[in-house]
Amino acid sequence: MGGKNDAVPESQRRIDPFLGTTIHIVGGRQSRPIISDGRSVTACPFCVGGLEAPDPYETRWFINRWPPMDGDRCEVILYSPNHDASFASLGVDGIARVIDLWVERTETLGARDDVEFVLVFENRGTSIGATISHPHGQIYAYDHVPRRSNQLLGTGGWVPSFDDQLLVVGNDSMIAAVPPAPVYPVAVTIAPRVRVGRLSELDRATRRDLASMLADVLDRLDRLYDEPIPYMLWVNQRPFTAGFDDAWLNIEIVSPWRAANLPRYIAAAEVGAGEYFNPVVPEELALRLRASNDQSV
Ligand SMILES: [Zn+2]
Repeated sequence: MGGKNDAVPESQRRIDPFLGTTIHIVGGRQSRPIISDGRSVTACPFCVGGLEAPDPYETRWFINRWPPMDGDRCEVILYSPNHDASFASLGVDGIARVIDLWVERTETLGARDDVEFVLVFENRGTSIGATISHPHGQIYAYDHVPRRSNQLLGTGGWVPSFDDQLLVVGNDSMIAAVPPAPVYPVAVTIAPRVRVGRLSELDRATRRDLASMLADVLDRLDRLYDEPIPYMLWVNQRPFTAGFDDAWLNIEIVSPWRAANLPRYIAAAEVGAGEYFNPVVPEELALRLRASNDQSV
C-alpha cells in the first residue's frame, strides 16, 4: 500500500486487468488552461506573438506543454496563424501545407527508437474537448502500437472496396465513404484508391488530391446540419514496426451529432456492453453527404 510519499507519477500507462484496456493516467493535465470561445484573441497562445507562437508562421509545431505521455512524444500542430480559420477554410493550399507538416513530424517521430506508432489527430469544437478554438491538431507518438490501430492496420485496415450506396465522393486518387458500421452517427473515411501505408508515400499530386478531398468532405460535414459540426479526425498510418505490410492509409472523421446541436451520447449501454446503437443509417448519411454539394454556390 502506498504511503503519502509514494507519489503517483504525473503520467502513467496502466492496463485494466480484466479487459486489457490501456488507460493513461494523466493527473498533471488537470491544471492545463482552458481558453475557448469567449476569451479575447490576445490571450490565445497560438496566435502570432502568443506563448506558443512568438514568431510569424504559416504552419507550426511544438511540444505539448501538458503532455498526456512523457518523453516529448506529444506535439501540437498549428494549421494557420488566423485564429478564426478552420481546417476546411484553409483551402487546398493551406490543407496541403498541414499535410506536409504531418508527414515531416510523423517521419521524424517514427524514426526514434522509442516510437512504434504515430497518431495524427484533431478535435474540433468545445463539445468534444478542444480547449483552444484556434485551428490546430495534435500528434501522439506511442512506444507501442495501440490495440485499435493494431487491429485495424494489422488486417490491412480500411480498404475502399464497399457498396456504392456508402460512397460520398471520389477524385483521381482518393475516395471518401461512410463506413458500413460506424460507432458515431456521422462518420466518413477517406483513403487512397491505391494502397500506401503512410502519408509520406504520397507524391505531390496525391497529397493535393488528399487536401482537396479533406476540404470537400469537411465542407459537406459542415453543411449537413447547416452548422459547424464538432468532429474528431485522425490518420491511420502504418506503424514503425515490422508486420504491417498490408496497412492501408486512411483518415477517419466522426461526429457525435445526430442532428444540429444534438449529440448522440455514448452512454450506459454502450460503455457497459461495448456494443453501439447508432440512430443514423449509414446509407442515408452517405446519400445526404453525396447530395450536399449540389446546392453549392
Ligand atoms: Zn489564436
